[in-house]
Amino acid sequence: MKVTKKIVLSENDMPKQWYNIVADLTNKPMPMLHPGTKQPLKPEEMEGLFAKGLVEQEFTTERYIDIPDEVRDLYRIYRPTPLVRASGLEKALDTPAKIYFKNESVSPVGSHKLNSAIPQAYYNKIQGIKHMTTETGAGQWGSALSIACKHFGLDLDVFMVKVSYDQKPYRKSVMRTYGANVVASPSNTTEVGRRLQAAHPGTSGSLGMAISEAVEKAMTQPDTRYGLGSVLNHVILHQTIIGEEAKKQMEIAGDYPDVVIGCFGGGSNFCGISFPFLRDNLVGGKQTRFIAAEPASCPKLTRGKFEYDFGDTEGFTPLLPMFTLGHDFEPADIHAGGLRYHGAGTIVSQLMKDKLIEATDVEQLESFEAGVLFAQAEGIIPAPESTHAIAAAIKEALKAKEEGKEKVILFNLSGHGLIDMASYDRYFAGELKNYQVPEEEIAKNVAKLEKLA
Ligand SMILES: *Cc1c(COP(=O)(O)O)cnc(C)c1O
Repeated sequence: MKVTKKIVLSENDMPKQWYNIVADLTNKPMPMLHPGTKQPLKPEEMEGLFAKGLVEQEFTTERYIDIPDEVRDLYRIYRPTPLVRASGLEKALDTPAKIYFKNESVSPVGSHKLNSAIPQAYYNKIQGIKHMTTETGAGQWGSALSIACKHFGLDLDVFMVKVSYDQKPYRKSVMRTYGANVVASPSNTTEVGRRLQAAHPGTSGSLGMAISEAVEKAMTQPDTRYGLGSVLNHVILHQTIIGEEAKKQMEIAGDYPDVVIGCFGGGSNFCGISFPFLRDNLVGGKQTRFIAAEPASCPKLTRGKFEYDFGDTEGFTPLLPMFTLGHDFEPADIHAGGLRYHGAGTIVSQLMKDKLIEATDVEQLESFEAGVLFAQAEGIIPAPESTHAIAAAIKEALKAKEEGKEKVILFNLSGHGLIDMASYDRYFAGELKNYQVPEEEIAKNVAKLEKLA
C-alpha cells in the first residue's frame, strides 16, 4: 500500500489559538522568585525587561490564548508546516514503526524559532517599544528575531555566543541581511561583558553570558526590551502551534503517536510539539510517551538537579525552579549550539519531576551519525540540534523492530542544517568527539546554588 508522504493543512486550517498547559496541570509549576527579595515575582516586576503582553502570557492560567491577526498574517508566510511520513528512514532502518516528523525547517530562517519571534516583536511594537536586545547561541533565534523586528519596524541588538560567532559566520550574515546589529559575546559593549572577559580570559562564551549582556543593555537603554528565544512560559506557549497543527495532521493521517520526541535546549520546540498531545494524557486518558533528547555534554534533565537557579550567568534574571547544571556550568563547544544551555523551563521541569515526560541523552557522534542517515534517507539536512531528536527516534524505531511491534513515532524536525555545513565537514574529517561531563563538575556547580526549592 502506498503511504501518504506529506500531510499539508490549508492556511485556513492554521490554529487560531496557542495552548497553555498550565491550565490542565494538577501540580502547577512553582513561582519564579525575585533575585533580590527571593519572594514570588510579581508581573509588574518583569515589565521593565519584557513587553507587557508577553508578561501577561508568562503568568496566565487561561487554557487557550488567541493568536493576534497580525501574527497569523506573518505565520502564513510559512505555516502551516508539513507533517511528513519518514518513509525513507523507515526503510533504511527496516523497522515496523511508523515514523512521522513535523517539518519546522521550512520557515524562512530555517527553524521553529520564528514561531515565537513574530509574536514577541508584535507585543513590543503595540506597546510602543523601539529597540529590542537578545542573545543567540547557534544563531537561529537571532535570525528569527532579526526578521520579526524588521517586520514590525523595531531595531535589534544581538549578542552572539563567541564560539558560534566564529564557527558560524553565515548566521551573522543572515542577521545583518535582516538588518540587526550583531556582536560577539562576551563583548566590550556592556559592563558585564567586560567583567566576564576579565574573569574568564579567552572564554568562548555561553548562552548564560550572552543573556546577561542583552539584559544589561535592555535595562540601561530607554524604550528597549529584551526577548528570549526559549525557556520562559510565553515562548513555550507560542511554540504550541507546532503540536496543535501536528494533532490535526496526525488525525488526517489516521494515526496517533505512541511516542513524541523533540531535541532539548531550553525546551521550546520539545514543549511546542508535545503539550497539545500531552493534554490528551492529562485529560483524555491517553498514555503517550514524551522524550526530550539532550546532548550528553549538557545533560540538565538526565543529570541536573531541580533547584531554583538563574537563567543567566550573572544572576540578573528571576530565579526559576528548574532542572539545572548550575548557571556557572560551561558546556563543551559542541556543534549543536542551540542545546548548550544550563537549565530547562519551569513547566517542563515540573513535568519531569512529576514523571509526565522522559529525557534521554545523546552523544555528539551519535547525533551526527543519525543526521547523516536522515539526510540520505529523507533528503533534508537537519540542524545539529535536531539530529538529537532524530537519534532518539531511531532508537525507538530500532526497539520496535527488536520487539516486532508496530509503533507510531512523531518527532519535531526543529530546523535544517544548511548553514551548519562546517559542522558536518568537521564530523566527516573525524574532528568531532564525544564529551562526558564528570559528576564532580555538576555537583560543584549545583552546590553553589541557594537551596530554595
Ligand atoms: C534553538 C534551537 C533548538 C533548541 O531550543 P529549544 O528551545 O529547546 O527548542 C533546537 N533546534 C533548533 C533548530 C534551534 O534553533
